[in-house]
Amino acid sequence: DVTATKGNEFEDYFLKRELLMGIYEKGFERPSPIQEESIPIALTGSDILARAKNGTGKTAAFCIPALEKIDQEKNAIQVVILVPTRELALQTSQVCKELGKHLKIQVMVTTGGTSLKDDIVRLYQPVHLIVGTPGRILDLTKKGVCILKDCSMLIMDEADKLLSPEFQPSIEQLIRYLPASRQILMFSATFPVTVKEFKDKYLPKPYVINLMDELTLKGITQFYAFVEERQKVHCLNTLFSKITELGYSCFYIHAKMLQDHRNRVFHDFRNGACRNLVCTDLFTRGIDIQAVNVVINFDFPKNSETYLHRVGRSGRFGHLGLAVNLITYEDRFNLYRIEQELGTEIKPIPPQIDQAIY
Ligand code: ADP
Ligand code: MG
Repeated sequence: DVTATKGNEFEDYFLKRELLMGIYEKGFERPSPIQEESIPIALTGSDILARAKNGTGKTAAFCIPALEKIDQEKNAIQVVILVPTRELALQTSQVCKELGKHLKIQVMVTTGGTSLKDDIVRLYQPVHLIVGTPGRILDLTKKGVCILKDCSMLIMDEADKLLSPEFQPSIEQLIRYLPASRQILMFSATFPVTVKEFKDKYLPKPYVINLMDELTLKGITQFYAFVEERQKVHCLNTLFSKITELGYSCFYIHAKMLQDHRNRVFHDFRNGACRNLVCTDLFTRGIDIQAVNVVINFDFPKNSETYLHRVGRSGRFGHLGLAVNLITYEDRFNLYRIEQELGTEIKPIPPQIDQAIY
């Protein structure tokens, strides 16, 4: 439920009356948790690095403070919202227009793959808030038609996607056109290392909001088994043949499969129709399936973050689980380091595993 909150009200933020009207007319009765955290902080002018699951109301969490801060009397671009796709640009501008329905704020959308000329013509008219993809906004800025000297707020939605090699250089160039007093708000559902590096460079002391459930190894018994690299497949085969003997089938998922097929396998796995899945890290990232009770690391992860993503569970409900790590001679240092870093214990596998532990 997006509105299960601390009990704040939109009135608590002293927003312009016209903005409040737009919020209520959109059907929002109370702020969602991410909105409760981000709206008051963004209004103070602080940089923000926010992480929350999809569907938790991040769009309004940045659109509301953006609309509040814009001076409608001033004919200048005051806010830029960067997004990775055209669809998202359109959707986000729609939210801005709806929330700002009673304000006199001009919103412009601009993305690659559309007429540059039309955008140039549009910029002769007043624009307060611009939503778009980084490359196009940079083009318009370099041409001198998009003027960012009064743009004091830069918002990056889906920051993890924006910080791909496709967009990051444009974003870094764009930032140079902003005034020194700029405020940057970053929103994302995941925090890969690219986000961390960008944060260190451009918003070194942001207010950090993290509404993701932390992953934990509590309740998970972890074992390792020494194997030689060339024995791994045989070892896994033995395991799977035991599984199929018991009447369970195995499925696999990988990046080259058609999306439709992937979705079907994922769905079957989610609802328990398929119980055994062979997958890569591509799949484990950001996926939280509480019903997973045994994880086998065929290749032992190189770092503790990956290990935690594969083996850890979110929530405080004491789920039991079992992890079996196939360890080669070369992995032994990583094994030791990951144990240290995560403050956990990975024990040698015993000949028999008590079923009660998973
Ligand atoms: P996210 O970007 O976090 O994935 P969105 O901003 O797209 O989430 O919002 C998800 C849905 O929740 C949208 O349909 C939006 O209209 C709705 N929503 C957002 N904030 C509220 C709120 N305060 N009250 C009710 N619904 C809300
Ligand atoms: Mg979103």
